[in-house]
Amino acid sequence: MSTSDYNKYFVPTFSRSGAPFVKGKGMYIYDAAGKKYLDFSAGIAVNALGHAHPALIKAMADQSKKLIHTSNLYITPPHIELASLLIKHSFGKKVFLCNSGTEANEAAIKFSRKYCSSISPKKYHILSFFNGFHGRTYGALSATAQEKFHKGFGPLLGGFHYAKLNDVEGTKNVLDKYDFATIIVEPLQGEGGILSADTVFLKFLRKYADEHDIVLVFDEIQSGIGRTGTFWNYEQHKVIPDIMSTAKPLGGGLPLGAVVCCEKVAMAISPGNHGTTFGGNPVACALGCEVLKIVSKKDFLENVKEMGNYLKEKLSSLAKKYPSIKAVRGCGLLIGAEMQSDPKAMVEKCREKGLLVISAGSNTLRFVPPLIVKKIHIDAAMKIFEGCLK
Ligand code: PLP
Repeated sequence: MSTSDYNKYFVPTFSRSGAPFVKGKGMYIYDAAGKKYLDFSAGIAVNALGHAHPALIKAMADQSKKLIHTSNLYITPPHIELASLLIKHSFGKKVFLCNSGTEANEAAIKFSRKYCSSISPKKYHILSFFNGFHGRTYGALSATAQEKFHKGFGPLLGGFHYAKLNDVEGTKNVLDKYDFATIIVEPLQGEGGILSADTVFLKFLRKYADEHDIVLVFDEIQSGIGRTGTFWNYEQHKVIPDIMSTAKPLGGGLPLGAVVCCEKVAMAISPGNHGTTFGGNPVACALGCEVLKIVSKKDFLENVKEMGNYLKEKLSSLAKKYPSIKAVRGCGLLIGAEMQSDPKAMVEKCREKGLLVISAGSNTLRFVPPLIVKKIHIDAAMKIFEGCLK
């Protein structure tokens, strides 16, 4: 098994390299040759509890002995429990379950357009923000205001418009031009380069949305479920959306996404309007329940905050020593180091030396370790990173 096998069998959507990974435990992952890596990528901010967490293994074994799939025509205990936990830990009143982040955003866009269709048939426009990332299917892709993801896939869906994050005046100008159904925004942009929305900006969006009956959607697929030190990132801004999309860590590594909705938008949807065969799969939901129960513990979130600050401090002191780091950004354990040059070579170098990190945007190295990370792991990761910087 090698990169040449990958190249032989797969549509080249990813440029993969290196030996295949065969197992993981906690903060570490191992390749087929037995080499050990510190995992600061967490499967792109998915493995919040690290690898092979006993609670997830047990939940998977227990549920798969009972029921693996029923479809959404029927009710199962794990999907009811998961929805109730999502509501308990958020502003939401109703939940829709799906399989991924992009599907959650598709549903969020459809739900908000459906809600607005009863106000006016012309109220269908969608606003999103440059450098945002919402997924690869056509609705989510049309909302992803980054040219590089659009190239070669046009025409995109109609009615999508873009503005600059944190630019109140510019955003207001776009909003005033059309009859908007939806504003979709990541409170902390992940893929785009770890760029935070300002609280004043989110408050402006909330106020404008209220005044014009626009559905405000927060995409917390990367920033949610403990990643930034609070259960959801919106809590830090004290701005509450009408809809929130979540995925990534939700299924404990299995495909699972969710749309958390306020009552009025949820009530605009009737049976048959939207659906999925697999969404809310009982095994994925059983894992999801464990993830939510563990992450919502006060001590767990305290560790994320403390480790996030520690990691940021360590990176900031490296930035003082090495001019190749231009800036350090982010919050909790969603941290970016903006580099002077394309970070891809650094990602490869770190991997060679036993550290997995990923890139974000065109110039940022992203550190998104499992949320169970401890100081010893951060120290070890920074030692490898510093060796690579040298
Ligand atoms: N939204 C955000 C903020 C993301 O970070 C991602 C994935 O990186 C997505 C949506 C798409 O999620 P998925 O890859 O599960 O479709």
